[in-house]
Formats: sequence, structure tokens, C-alpha cells
Amino acid sequence: MTTQTVEKPERKEGMYEVVMDQFARAADIMNLDPGVRKILAKTNTEIVVHFPVRLDNGKIEVFTGYRVQHNNALGPYKGGLRYHETVDIDAARALAIWMTWKSSLAGLPYGGAKGGIQLNPKEYSKGELERITRRFTYALGDNIGPDLDIPAPDVNTNAQIMAWIADTFSSTKSPATRFANLHVVTGKPMGAGGLAGRDRATGFGVVANLKSWSVRSKQPLKGMRFIVQGFGNVGYWTSHFLLKEGATLIGVQDATATIHDPNGIDPEALLKHSDANGRNIKGFTGAKEIEPSEFFGLECDIVVPAALGNQITGENAGNIKAKVVAEGANGPTNTAGELILRNNRVDIIPDILCNSGGVIGSYYEWLQNKRSEIWKIEEVLEMIHDKIDTAFAQVVATSGEFNVDWRTSAYIVALRRLENTYMERGIFP
Ligand code: NAD
Repeated sequence: MTTQTVEKPERKEGMYEVVMDQFARAADIMNLDPGVRKILAKTNTEIVVHFPVRLDNGKIEVFTGYRVQHNNALGPYKGGLRYHETVDIDAARALAIWMTWKSSLAGLPYGGAKGGIQLNPKEYSKGELERITRRFTYALGDNIGPDLDIPAPDVNTNAQIMAWIADTFSSTKSPATRFANLHVVTGKPMGAGGLAGRDRATGFGVVANLKSWSVRSKQPLKGMRFIVQGFGNVGYWTSHFLLKEGATLIGVQDATATIHDPNGIDPEALLKHSDANGRNIKGFTGAKEIEPSEFFGLECDIVVPAALGNQITGENAGNIKAKVVAEGANGPTNTAGELILRNNRVDIIPDILCNSGGVIGSYYEWLQNKRSEIWKIEEVLEMIHDKIDTAFAQVVATSGEFNVDWRTSAYIVALRRLENTYMERGIFP
């Protein structure tokens, strides 16, 4: 158990305001239908549950869990569960709204949702986390389900936690329907119905986007230097796949330390260290520890934020010297930070495109479970690559059509699909 934490609360800087700013800009430019705009500006359902759990010391603690379901015009709600102190209703709202845009942009039959529990998981034993997860799942009850709302991993949640959710949810149903409920969550371990490649899907997708950017901007990834903020699922896998393209990892920041080596940091050695050290990079001897404030100013070509929201802001965006920011995290750049990056001609591959490999991987896991099939990792990664290439090309084309930045064009692609759906289907009654 680690007590050290230097995590900055993301909520106080307002992820919700950031997503609503982005939405308003795109809706204005594309002239989104006013009725559809009203619908999409609100979340459909917001669930807050308080539930008790007995801790290892025998005492009872009451936890607060959230699930916000933004929109399901395109299909069941889909989005991660986050275990972090900054989880609250506004954070869940913002992250749920980003999921609606992301699923729409990727062409998936999903809506958007997000949730989690407000806690620091490092303060709890594995047994406690299992009881917290199972009791949270029970408290959510039939507000989630394989055809209603399908959670997945996010910050501080992983395949193990997804397996506990799937098991708890299925155990509360009739034994005859157990396997009809397996796909209530995605990101499960392989033995519990998981998909080969789902673990690496988001990082793989970040690099697929960077490859498209590299071809388009005629700047080879080979020889480029990159820095990664957050060395969890997304940060590690992005580093792993970028190395295969011939790029060099020269800086990493997580919640415990910031490290730098201009000659290169080995992500595999860093992962080994981090796994043995409570998933923290602090104490790694293969690079020099520097001040956290130096991180975004490091000389490099690619910046990959892969931690929390609102990390690239009006205060630090001007320090970034890179050619491109590839948003592995959700909402890592706030409105002021974005303006500075745009003025400085730093390309941004926006989160709803850049990290969509995760939800695309989840979609294939869900389909695999629905069809009772088992797919090979090569097939899965190829399908993810294909969907990302399609979305990237649409974003570039739409950016030319409206003469706007890629974030706004990604929104326009996503919002057009939602608008068409409402126009074709109409509004009940
Ligand atoms: P994770 O829990 O595996 O890793 C999070 C990392 O962020 C850790 O290394 C942690 O130390 C670091 N971190 C936390 N606070 C920090 C701070 N203040 N400064 C620097 N680093 C900090 O989480 P993850 O699944 O890799 O998710 C990372 C981001 O990617 C989140 O924004 C998440 O929403 C987004 N995302 C994840 C997925 C997925 O499939 N896991 C998919 C799409 C988007």
C-alpha cells in the first residue's frame, strides 16, 4: 500500500466546461439542428449510489459510486469505470459525453456513459477492492446490462475488476442466462471471456493514429523522440508500439515521479520496475528524475498525455516544443491550452479519435461474446486499425470541408451521425 500521491485533482479545472466548449464550437460551425443540440447538451440518466463495505479491519465504510449515461441514440451506453478521488458527477458527465462522440466517430453501435467510485484504490487491499467492486455492481443493479450499458476499464481499473463485475452481475441472474450476460462488461481477462488484444487496444490505436499523421504530414516516426504522461495501460502500450516504429521514449511522468533520458528509456524495463513497485515509476534507475514542471517542456517531437484530464493548460501549453500532441487520455487539453497549441502550430490528434482503439476493441469483445466466438489477436488488431484509419480519413476530409482544426472536425463527423439518426428516427412519442 502506497500513501504517496501527487495527483492533481482534474475536476476543479472543469472537464465538463471543456467538453461543453468543444461541443458548442462544433455545433455552431456545422449548424447542428437546434432540437438535436438541446438533446445532446443534457445527459439522459445520472445514477449515484452509496453502498457499504466491510473493510479488513472490521469497520464499515460507505462509498459513493457514479454512472452517467449521456446518450443512447446509436446503441447501448458504453464507457469506462474509473476508481479515483477526482470521480464526481461532473467528471462522470464530461467523460460520458466524450464517449458518445467517440463511439459515433468510430462508427460503432454504441452510446456514451462513464462512471466510477470516488476513492484512492492504493488505500485498499485486493480483498477490499473486490468487495467494493462487487457491492458497487450490485448497487447499480439492472441499470447496467449487455444490451443497456456496458462498462469497461479506465483509470485504476483493470481486467481483474471487470471479471469481478461480470461474475457479480451474472451471479445475480438465473444460472440459465449466465453466459448471456458475460458481455455486461468488456476488458475482461481472457479466461473470463476477454478479447485477445483488448489490453493493448488503446495504445495500439494511439500509434495507428500517429502513423496516419506521419504519412499525412510527411514526417517519419522513425527517429522521433516522444514523452508520455501516465505509465498505465495507455502510456505503456503506446510506448511499446511507438518503439516498434523506430521512435525513442525520452521522458515519462506518472503520479509519483518524472523521469528523463535523452538517449532513451526502455519501456519494458520501466514496466518491470513499475509492476514491482505498486505500478509507480518512482525509483527507476534507468533515467534521471527531474522536476514535474519540466515535463511538457522536454525537447521532443511527440507528446502523449495518457493520464488524467486538464493536464495541458494555459500555464504549460506554451512550453511544448513537439510537432504533435496525441491525446491518449480523455480531455487532457483544456480550452486555454488548446488555443496556445493551435497558435504555435502544434498538431493535436484529439482524444475522441486518438484513444478510440479502446472502445473499438471493446466492441469486438462484446461481439465475440454475443456470437460465442474466439478471435485471434492479429485479426483483432487489423480490425481496430481499419476502423481508426476510416475515422482518421473522415476527420481530415471534414477539416478541409469546414476549414477547422481536427478536434472540431472530429466533433462534426460524430455529431452529423447523431443528427442523421434523430432526423431519420424522430422523437417518441
Ligand atoms: P491507468 O490507471 O492504467 O494509468 C493511469 C496513469 O496515470 C498511471 O501511471 C498514474 O500514475 C498516472 N497519473 C495519475 N495522475 C497523474 C498525474 N497527476 N500526473 C501524471 N500522471 C498521473 O489508466 P489508463 O487506463 O492508462 O487511462 C489513462 C487515460 O487514458 C485516462 O484518461 C483514460 O480515460 C484514457 N483512456 C483509457 C482507455 C483504456 O482502454 N484503458 C481507453 C481510452 C482512454
